[in-house]
Amino acid sequence: MQSPPDRFQPIDSNNVPRYAGIATFMRLPSIALEQANDVELGLIGIPWDGGTTNRPGARHGPRQMRELSALMRRFHPVLEISPYSLANCADLGDTPVNPISVEDTLDLVEGFYRDAVDRNIVPLSAGGDHLISLPVLRALAKKHGPMGMVHFDAHTDTLDRYFGDFKYTHGTPFRRAIEEGLLDAKRVIQIGIRGGLYSAEDDAWGLEQGIRVIRIEEYFELGVNQVITEALSVVGEAPTYVSFDVDCLDPVYAPGTGTPEVGGINTFDAQVMLRGLRGLNLIGGDVVEVSPPFDPSGNTALVGATLMWEMLCIFAEAIANRR
Ligand code: MN
Ligand code: MN
Repeated sequence: MQSPPDRFQPIDSNNVPRYAGIATFMRLPSIALEQANDVELGLIGIPWDGGTTNRPGARHGPRQMRELSALMRRFHPVLEISPYSLANCADLGDTPVNPISVEDTLDLVEGFYRDAVDRNIVPLSAGGDHLISLPVLRALAKKHGPMGMVHFDAHTDTLDRYFGDFKYTHGTPFRRAIEEGLLDAKRVIQIGIRGGLYSAEDDAWGLEQGIRVIRIEEYFELGVNQVITEALSVVGEAPTYVSFDVDCLDPVYAPGTGTPEVGGINTFDAQVMLRGLRGLNLIGGDVVEVSPPFDPSGNTALVGATLMWEMLCIFAEAIANRR
């Protein structure tokens, strides 16, 4: 296989120090979507948190994750791969958004991703609140049909309505996605679910659809390796999306998020689980709910950028495997 050309290589941090220059994801080249014909893996920011029901700030996530992603390097010693040798990767910038309109933003984001999908780009996104997964899934489903999903989160995000009759919030994206036929509920697994509910029935709908829910109690009982085995068997070999809400992690690791829940997953286990998804038919993913105003240290954004790097590696390998 030919190695990707120089124009898809990250800046060499042994020549240009990590703190210098303009921040892009993983120090990759910034390429406009209109010129991204030979990009295979596109890193995209969605700077929007208009679906947030409580503490906002995730609109600032992409910029801070770009900055902290400068700490990533180019070889993955556990997977033993260098993703930039496997696929043409680039930072495609941020999608257009409208900070004061949910409907407008859903359309703008979907339009951007439709264009990316038409160009056969595998999208790896930085949110944004979790509602941003919905327009991404809408665009991907046009190509792949109903997808499987490995969903890391403290919350199922399958509630129906908020504040009366409002259907589109960061607590509802996967209910909408299943209703719209974007996800195959029987190929969806949710990992790390915990925290109080509005009512005893909150998670009933998702379970009725056939979602496999691994609550945190079961997660600790099974252990990470068995959780991976379970995830692989639920999603199978068909196209699969990966969505990582950073509040899946315990707030000691990721305090910069809108809806923290104590008693969560640690960062190493999160890395091990993402590596465990290697070999799946991965067609996109996101890291969402990093809210920099709640963690000015940047630690949560570092966690987010690191999880994006883990996904980038397994996605690049999936792209190479499909060739
Ligand atoms: Mn979520
Ligand atoms: Mn959550």
